[in-house]
Amino acid sequence: MFKKILVANRGEIALRIQRACRELGVKAVMVYSEADREAKYVKLAEEAVCIGPPPSNQSYLNMPAIISAAEVTDAEAIHPGYGFLSENADFAERVEKSGFQFIGPTPESIRLMGDKVSAKQAMLKAGVPCVPGSEGELPDNPAEVRRMAKAVGYPVIIKAAGGGGGRGMRVVHTEAALVNAVQMTKAEALAAFGNGAVYMEKFLQNPRHVEIQVLADKYKNAVYLGERDCSMQRRHQKVMEEAPAPGIPRKLIEKIGERCAAACKKIGYRGAGTFEFLYEDGEFYFIEMNTRVQVEHPVTELITGIDIVKTQILVAAGEKLPFTQRDIVLRGHAIECRVNAEDPYNFMPSPGRITLWHPPGGPGVRVDSHVYNNYFVPSNYDSMIGKIIVHADTRDMALARMRSALGETVVEGIKTNIPLHRELLVDAKFMAGGTNIHYLEEWLSHHKR
Ligand code: ADP
Repeated sequence: MFKKILVANRGEIALRIQRACRELGVKAVMVYSEADREAKYVKLAEEAVCIGPPPSNQSYLNMPAIISAAEVTDAEAIHPGYGFLSENADFAERVEKSGFQFIGPTPESIRLMGDKVSAKQAMLKAGVPCVPGSEGELPDNPAEVRRMAKAVGYPVIIKAAGGGGGRGMRVVHTEAALVNAVQMTKAEALAAFGNGAVYMEKFLQNPRHVEIQVLADKYKNAVYLGERDCSMQRRHQKVMEEAPAPGIPRKLIEKIGERCAAACKKIGYRGAGTFEFLYEDGEFYFIEMNTRVQVEHPVTELITGIDIVKTQILVAAGEKLPFTQRDIVLRGHAIECRVNAEDPYNFMPSPGRITLWHPPGGPGVRVDSHVYNNYFVPSNYDSMIGKIIVHADTRDMALARMRSALGETVVEGIKTNIPLHRELLVDAKFMAGGTNIHYLEEWLSHHKR
C-alpha cells in the first residue's frame, strides 16, 4: 500500500478522498488554490500545498504545479478526483512518467474513452449496445451526411467526439437543417475542445439516464456494482440520483452489467468507471464512459456496502479486487441530492459566506461536504457545496428519509437549491419513479415557483 497520496482536487471530493486515505492509514497531501485556503480538508490536512491563484487554469489544471507538489512532499500516487484533470490522458501520462502512480485507468484507456467516437467503436466491438447512428466521425460530403441521417431516421443528434459536460450537441429535426447544424457543431467543437470531429446518433425522445458502476483491477478482474438512475437533469447536469433505477427488471440490469464488466476485461480497464446509457422501451444504449469516480458514487456505496474510493486506491496500489461478482449484493434504496450554492428559482450562482450550516443526521443519512459555519464559498468554481445522501429499505422509505433530512437542514448566508429538492420530493410523478431525462426541465417550465 502507498504511504502517501496527493489529492489533486478540491471541494467535497477532496475531503472524500482524504477520509478514504485516513481509513487506509495512508497520508494524504492536499493541494489548494489561494481561494481554498480555508477549506475543511486543508485545515484537517497533515500536509497541504498551495498550487496557485484562484483560477482553475492556474491551479487545479496546472499540471507542473501539481506534479511538483507531489515531488516536494514525497507522495507516491496522485488521486485526480472528478472534473479538472481526472480524464486528461496527457496528465495521467505525465504523472506516470514522473514516477507516480495515477489512481485511475491507464492513459490509453482514458484516451480511448475520452474520444466518444473511438469509445463507441470499442464498445460495439465488446458487445455493448450503442445508440444507432454514424459508426464513426461524420464525413465532409453533405450528400453522404444526409444519406446517413435518413437511414438513422429524424430526429438525430450531432455530437462532438471530444465533447463533455453536456456541451457540443445539437438536435436536428429536418433534413433542411442538417448540413448547417453539422457545420455549426463542428466549429463549436473545434473552438471548445480543440477537436472538430462530430458524429451522429438517433435522438431518443424519452429516455432515462441509467449508468452502470464498474470496478476493475490490474489482473483483468472486473465487477459491476449495479446501476444508478440519473434522469433528473437540468441542462444535461444531474441534480438528483438514485440506486437502484426504479422499475427496471433485474434481469436486464444483470445482462447489461455483465457486458460492461466483460468490456472492462477486454480493454484492460482498471480502477473505477461508469458506463452511461440511455434507457428507453426496455433497451440500453451506451452513450459514453466516465473513466473516474463520479459525484453520485455514494448511492452505489450505500446499496452495496462497498467503498469505491478505497477500492480505487487498493487496485492502483496493485492489489486484487477484494470481492467477486457473487459477493456483490444490493440492499435497499439510496437517493442523493446535490446541494448547490445557487438561487433555487433562477439558478444564478450564489457564492459567499455561509453564516449558518446545520447538516442533517440520523439513521441512514450521509453528508459529504467540505463546508462549515462561516465558510466562504468562492465564486471561482462549480457551485456544488455538498451532497446529502440517504439509504433505507425501500424507495418510499428513502424518499421519506430525504424529506426529513432536508427538512432539518439549515444553510444561511447564501442561497441553495434545497427548496427545489423539497418540491421535487413531493412531486407525484417523481415519487412514482421512472421519470425521463426531460422531466425536470418540463416540470420547471410548468411550475410557476
Ligand atoms: P456529455 O459528455 O457532455 O455529458 P453525453 O453523451 O453523456 O455527453 O450526453 C449528455 C446528455 O445529453 C445525456 O444524458 C442525454 O440527456 C443527452 N443525450 C445525449 N445523446 C442523446 C441521444 N442520442 N438522444 C437523446 N438524448 C441524448
